[in-house]
Amino acid sequence: MFKKILQYKKMIGEAISLSRQNHENLQKLLIMLNEVSDNAERQLSERTNEINKRTNELGAQVEQQLNERTNELGARVEQQLNERTNELGVRVEQQLNERTNELGIRLEQQLNARTNELGARVEQQLGERTHELGVRGGQLTQASLDEIRDLRNRLEKHDIELKLQNEITAVNTAAFAEYRNINTGKDVVLVATGPTIEKYVPIKGAVHIGVNKACQYKNIPLDYYFIQDARKTVNEKGSRLSYEDDVIALKCKKFFGMLSTTPNGFSEPSESLLVKANATRYCGFGFPSETIYHDIRFHPLADFSTITFAALNFVFFTNPKRVYLVGCDVSFSESFIHNNGKEGVKFWRVHLNRWTIGYCEIKKFVQRWYPETEIISINPVNLKGIFTDVYTNDRGEIIERTQDDLEERDISEQGIKLFIDEFIEKILLKMVHEEASCNKCDKKVFSLVRGLSDDVPNCIEIKCNECGFQFLFPEV
Ligand SMILES: [Zn+2]
Repeated sequence: MFKKILQYKKMIGEAISLSRQNHENLQKLLIMLNEVSDNAERQLSERTNEINKRTNELGAQVEQQLNERTNELGARVEQQLNERTNELGVRVEQQLNERTNELGIRLEQQLNARTNELGARVEQQLGERTHELGVRGGQLTQASLDEIRDLRNRLEKHDIELKLQNEITAVNTAAFAEYRNINTGKDVVLVATGPTIEKYVPIKGAVHIGVNKACQYKNIPLDYYFIQDARKTVNEKGSRLSYEDDVIALKCKKFFGMLSTTPNGFSEPSESLLVKANATRYCGFGFPSETIYHDIRFHPLADFSTITFAALNFVFFTNPKRVYLVGCDVSFSESFIHNNGKEGVKFWRVHLNRWTIGYCEIKKFVQRWYPETEIISINPVNLKGIFTDVYTNDRGEIIERTQDDLEERDISEQGIKLFIDEFIEKILLKMVHEEASCNKCDKKVFSLVRGLSDDVPNCIEIKCNECGFQFLFPEV
C-alpha cells in the first residue's frame, strides 16, 4: 500500500508537472486520486474490520483458554486441597486416637491403682471394724451371760427366801418378840472377840451380849449369847471354842443362828444340840445383807460376814440408850494372809470390805430408827472415826474421849475402798518387815516401791535395801 502511495506520489509529481502542461490531465489526475483515496479508505475499513474481527476472535480464544485453564487449576487445587485435607484429617485422627488411647490407658491405670488402694483401705477398715464389732459383740454376749447368771442366782436366792419366809417369820417371832424395846434406857455392850477384848473391864450395870468365842471370857457376865455357823465354829479343828465346855455350860439366854441361804444351811444347828444347850433358834442371812431390817420378828438378822451384825440387829431391836462396841476391831489374822499369799489378801479384802460396809450401814440404820441411841467404840482399831471413840486404862476407866465430829470417817463407797487399801498395805508392810527376806541376798530390810494399786491387785512392790532386788509381795 505504501508502495502504491509512493507510486501515487510519483504520479502526483508527474501530474503536477503535466498539469502545467495540461489542465485536462489535472482533471484526470483528480479523478484518479479520488478513486485511489476511495479505494484506500475502503481497504483500510476492510482491514480494520478484519483486525477487529481477529481481535475479537483472539479475545474469545484467550477468554476461553483462560477459563479452561482456571477451571483446570481450580479443579487441581480443589483436588490437592481435598487430598491434603484428607491426609491431614487421617493424621489428626490417627494422632487423636493414639493420644486418646494413651490417655485412656493411663487413666485406666490410675483408676485401677486408686481403686485398689481404696479397696485395700476399705477392706482394712472393714476388717478392723468387723473385728472391733466382733470383740464388742463377744463382750456384750459375755455381759449378757453374766447378767443372766446373776439374774439366775438372784432368782434362786429369792426362791429360797420365799420358800423359807414363813418359817423365818415363825422362828424369829418366837425368838425375839418378847425382847422388843426391852433395854429402853439401858446401856448394852456388844462383845465381839477382836484382840482389844483383852483390855475390856465390864461396865457395871450394863447388859452384855456376846458372840461366838466371847463365852470363853469368864470375867464378862453375858446376858445374851449369839452363835452362828455353829457346827463349823464348834467343830473346827484347832478351834479354842469347845461346845461342851463353853457353850452348853454357859448360863444366859442363848441364840443359835440358822443360815437361810439353803434348806440345808437352814438345818443348822441340830435339834439335839439346841436342846442340850437350852438355846433358841433364829434365822440370819446366809449371804451379805442388802438391807438391815428393823423388825427382826419377820426377817433374817443382818449379816456382813460376821455374826456381830446379827447380834447388833438384835441389840437395836431392844432399843437401848447407849451401845458400847467391844472387840469390834475389824482386823484379822496376819499369818492367814501370809500363809495364803495373794488369795489370802483377796479373801480378807472381801471380808474387810463387808465388815466396814456393815458398820457404815449400821450407822445409817441407827440414824433412821434409833436416833437417840449413842454408839461408842471402846478402844477402836479400825472402826475409828465411824462412831464415838473412847479409850480406857487398865482398870477400864475412860481416859480419852474424842469429840463426836473429830476425825469423822468418810463412809462413802470410795472412802471405804481407800480405808481398806491403806489398811491392807499397812498390814503387808508390817509382814514384809517382820517376816520376809530377799530372794537374792536373804537380807530383811526393804523399802516400798509401790503400794496397792489397781494394776497389780492385792500386792505391793518392794525393793531389797541391800541388793536392790525388786519383787511383788505377796508373791504371785
Ligand atoms: Zn537383796
